[in-house]
Formats: sequence, structure tokens, C-alpha cells
Amino acid sequence: MELYPQDFHFLTFLQGVVEICCIRAEQKGIFFLYQPSTQLLSGICADEKRLRQVLINLLVNAIKFTDSGGVTFKVDVISQKTLKKGFTQIKIYKVRFQIEDTGVGIAPQKLDKIFLPFEQVGNIEKQAEGTGLGLAISQRIIAIMGSTIEVQSQKGKESGSTFWFEVELPEAEEWMQTHSIAFQNKVIGFKGEKIKILIVDARWENRSIVINLLEPIGFEVFEASNGEEGLEKATEIQPDLIITDLTMPVMDGLTMTKHLRQLVELQNLVIIASSASVFGIDRQKALDIGCNDFLPKPIQADELLRQLKTQLQLTWIYQNESELTRKLAPVVTEIVIPHASELMTLYEAAQRCDIGDIQAEIHRIKQLDPKYIPFAEQILILTDEFEIEAIAHLLQAHIPTS
Ligand code: ADP
Repeated sequence: MELYPQDFHFLTFLQGVVEICCIRAEQKGIFFLYQPSTQLLSGICADEKRLRQVLINLLVNAIKFTDSGGVTFKVDVISQKTLKKGFTQIKIYKVRFQIEDTGVGIAPQKLDKIFLPFEQVGNIEKQAEGTGLGLAISQRIIAIMGSTIEVQSQKGKESGSTFWFEVELPEAEEWMQTHSIAFQNKVIGFKGEKIKILIVDARWENRSIVINLLEPIGFEVFEASNGEEGLEKATEIQPDLIITDLTMPVMDGLTMTKHLRQLVELQNLVIIASSASVFGIDRQKALDIGCNDFLPKPIQADELLRQLKTQLQLTWIYQNESELTRKLAPVVTEIVIPHASELMTLYEAAQRCDIGDIQAEIHRIKQLDPKYIPFAEQILILTDEFEIEAIAHLLQAHIPTS
């Protein structure tokens, strides 16, 4: 396995990862809290695809093994150094990625085994839900990046797991300067009538990636998890375009395309085959059977938009930079503030600057209802930073003055 580091926009990258996980957590009814450090850099140099694979693997696992409470994803800059390279200086940041969950936890005797290949427990369905990229591969990727994925876990009453790793990431300063122009040209919509797109893919996370790219631009997006479902949906909704995976259970993408091409009412339908297959022959088979184009996986936003533009003859509407910067603000799960009666003791402890009592109260509030956990986490961060006055102020706003 080799890494191919390239310069890319770090915040947009993280945002993409987070959005996928938010949807999944929401579906499960657990919270998802994203806590990026405010010092995060904009442009970095790394193997974007591999880093995404590792993060998605850890986050998807955390969500998969958590049924109550939720998942917190923290990204922090922990140190910084400068390296001289010829006449230029490169800033290198040590970034810590941490994924905490309040899930089932891992037994101590199993803890050192989970990074071994093929060490999967649980039923087949749960395994199929995964990214297919086990912890063993994630650990190898991070090893090549010069680090290790660490884990701490607890089973029992206060169960949960924390996975983390620290990697050194060089800043891509020059790249950011030249690419700020490209970022001004972010697509936010298209001219003309509504367009329906059907995504046929067995994996929810693959469908989510495309949905996350296309829905904000204004496409109406539908989903199907295999070829047979795809056929039914297509007849029902009459999409303008289908993006389909090739290998799927029940009915594969090629068979579905063959059937679709026999339907008179869907004559103008555009079908794009999408696959991780690196074999030219699969691409050729897809085109021969009637697909209009081929989109390699993992799907790159630029390439997807380019194909949509050509196939559907679209005219894009672009967004300007200031709007973009606003959009890049971190996604944070909605914070639910407990009722004033539950906040009094905490408020009094904050007024006394009694850290021990504050922590005990936060702990109690967390237990009241999982929906208060994001609130409790925020108070904990303030406590860790000794911002007790800020806590008192915050609480004051939610406690009626007598
Ligand atoms: P998969 O998730 O596909 O089963 P992984 O290699 O990603 O494979 O994980 C290996 C095993 O480690 C899982 O089957 C599970 O038993 C355990 N595991 C991983 N992450 C967690 C977690 N966050 N909470 C509990 N168990 C976990």
C-alpha cells in the first residue's frame, strides 16, 4: 500500500466526513457532536482518500456500536513546527483526531485483537453495513503516516470507546493562495427546471456521499439499494439520470441497465455507472450495455459535476467567497438546554468556582437524558479550560431571576 499525498482543503474535507456521519447518527436517534479546533488550518497536504477512509471507518464503527447517547468527533491541533526546505519554510502541524462513543464498549481481552485482520464480530448484516475497510487496514494506513491508532474502551455501566491518532500534516499554504480563486467558484445551483437523480448503490455511505453533494445544489435525489429496487423506483419516479454501482446483491448494475434500456418511457434517461473497479473492461462493459458514462469511485465532486453538466447540459450557478466561508462554519448538533430547575445546582457550583461540584452536576445531567449530552460536553470543555465565569454567564441566561 502506498500513499499519494496531495494538497486539499482540510475544513471542507472534514465537513464532508461529518455530514455523512450526521445523517447516519440522526437515523439511529443518537447525537453526533463535531468539535473542530478553531486553530485548524485550511489547506493541508496528505492522502485525502486514505485519511477519509480511516476517519469514516472509525466514525461508522462508533455509530454502529452505539444505540444510546452518541458520538463525539474532535479534531485538535496539538503542536506546530517549521521545517526549512530550500529557501522556503513549511509549517507542520500535529493534528489529533479523536472519536468517542457511548456505545457497547469492547471487552479488555478483545481490545488487542480488534486491529488484527478478519477480527469481526457481530452478525453478517452489521458487517455488510461497514465500510468494508476494517480496523486492520486503517491501522496500516496510519502506520504509513508514521503513527498509531490508539483505543480505550470500557464495558458495563458507563460503557463506551475512544479511538484516536495523531498525525503530522504539512500546511499547503501556497496551494491555498492559488486555489482561493477556485473556491470562489463553488457550484450552488443550476439554471432551469427540477432534475431527478436516482442513486443505486448497496452501501448507504456511498449513497450519502452523492446525496450530500447533490441535494444542496438543488437536485431531487432518490435512493435504491440494488438493481431490482432501482428498476422499480425508476419506473415510478421517472428520473432524468441514474448513478449506479455495478456490483450489488439481488440485481447488479449491468442487468438493471439492460432492463432500463428496453423501456420506451425512459428513452432519454442518462445512466452513469460508478465503480471502484480499476479494470478497463468493466468500464467498457458498462458503456456497451448502454451506460452513458463511467464515474470512478471514490467519487470526486469535480468529476461528478463535470459529467452531470455534460450529460444534462446544465448551466451552473456559483457562490461567492464570503458566503462560502460562512458555510464552512463547523456543524454542531443542536444543543438542548435542560430545564432551569435542573440547572440551579450547577449554577451555584459555578458561582462558587467549585470544579468538583460542577463536574458532578454535569455528570448527573448527562444521565438525565442523552439529548443533554451535547450541552454537558460544552460545559465540560469550558470547565477544562477553567472558563467558570463563562459557565455562570451561560447558565444565568437560562435561569429565571427571582
Ligand atoms: P467491522 O466493523 O467491519 O466489523 P472493524 O475492523 O472495523 O470491522 O472492527 C473490528 C471489530 O472491532 C468490530 O467487529 C467490533 O467488534 C469492534 N469495534 C470496532 N469499533 C468499535 C466501537 N466503536 N465500539 C465497539 N466495538 C467496536
